[in-house]
Amino acid sequence: MDIIVVMKAGAAADDVKRVVDRVTELGLTPHPSKGEFRTIIGAIGEQALQAQQQLEQLPGVDEVMAITQPYKLASREFQEADTILDIKGIRVGGPHVNIIAGPCAIESREILFDVGQAVKDAGASILRGGAYKPRTSPYSFKGKGKEGLEILKEAGEELGMPTITEVVDPRDVEVVYEYADIFQIGARNMQNFNLLLEVGKTDKPVFIKRGLAASITDLLMSAEYVLSQGNHRVMLCERGIRTFCEETRFTLDVSAVPVIQERSHLPVFIDPSHAAGKRDLVPPLALAGIAAGAAGAIVEVHSCPERALCDGPQAVLPDNFAKLMEQIRQVAELVGHRVTLWGRPDATVRRPAGGGWAT
Ligand code: PEP
Ligand code: MN
Repeated sequence: MDIIVVMKAGAAADDVKRVVDRVTELGLTPHPSKGEFRTIIGAIGEQALQAQQQLEQLPGVDEVMAITQPYKLASREFQEADTILDIKGIRVGGPHVNIIAGPCAIESREILFDVGQAVKDAGASILRGGAYKPRTSPYSFKGKGKEGLEILKEAGEELGMPTITEVVDPRDVEVVYEYADIFQIGARNMQNFNLLLEVGKTDKPVFIKRGLAASITDLLMSAEYVLSQGNHRVMLCERGIRTFCEETRFTLDVSAVPVIQERSHLPVFIDPSHAAGKRDLVPPLALAGIAAGAAGAIVEVHSCPERALCDGPQAVLPDNFAKLMEQIRQVAELVGHRVTLWGRPDATVRRPAGGGWAT
C-alpha cells in the first residue's frame, strides 16, 4: 500500500525537500504536488507502509496517510481539491465548463475552418478533429495523418483555440505533440499501456476516453499510467459503454460523472456524440452530462454531415450546436458551474474547489 505525506500549511521548501529526499532514500518514488495551501507528497512503493512512522516525524509534516485505492495519484485521497488545468489560458476542471467541438475527422481545410469558426462563434473553447482514426473496419477512411495535423494546427492558430486530436500509436506521439495542444486517447486505446506511458512522458494534457467495456476503476488505472510518468495534466471522458440496448450506439453512463468525481480530482467530460450515434440524441445527452456536473462535453459538429467521411449521422449542424450551447450555459449555471466562452475564460468560482457534492 502506498502513502501520502501531507505537509503543514505554509511548510518551508526545505521541509518539503527533506521529505522528498527521505522518501527516495527509503526506496520509494516521491510524487510532490503543490496545492494552493499546502504540498502533498505521494510515496509509491512496496515498503511505503513501513516508512510511514519515520516520515511522520520529519519537520513540517502534518500527517501521513495510506492510499487504499489501487489508483494513487488519480485519487481524491491523494489530492482533495479538483485539478484545474490551464490550457493556453483556458481553465479546465473545477467549476469551469468547457465545450470541445469540431468534426470527427479532419477531411479538408475548408470544412475544418468552416466548422471551427462556427463552433468558436457559438462559444466552444477547444477545437477537435481526428487525423488518425481508429476504425472498426480496415476498409474505412482512417484520417489524413500528418497532413490533417498541419490543417488542425493552422486552424487552431487562426481561430485562437487550443486543439485536441487522437493519437493511436506510440510512434506518433512526437508528431502529434508538435502539432496539437491536447492528446486524445480513444476508447479503443484506453488500455494501450505503452501509449499511455509515452504521452505520460510529455508535458501536454492527455484526454482519456473510457473504453467500451471498461470499469471506472480501469479508467482511473489508465489515468494512473499517465500520472505515474510525471504528467499530471489528465482529463477523463465518459463516452458510452456497451450494454444490451440497441437503440443507441452505446449507453452513456451519466452516473460515471459523479462517481469519478467522488473518487478522483481529475476533470470528467462526457461525449454525447459517440454514445448516441444519432444527432437528435446529442443535445439531451450533453445536457444530462452537464447537469450531472461534468467539466464539459466533446461534441461532433459538421457543416455537411451527409458528406462526412466519418460519423456523419451523429454530427450536429452548426446552427443546432449554437442552440445547444445556449442550453448548456443555462444548465451549467443551475449546478453552480460556468461555461468558459471562447477567448473569455470565466474566472467566477461558484462551487468551492475541493469538489464533492453536498449530500
Ligand atoms: C472520436 O472521438 O472520434 C472517437 C473515435 O471516439 P471514441 O474513441 O470514444 O470512440
Ligand atoms: Mn467520431
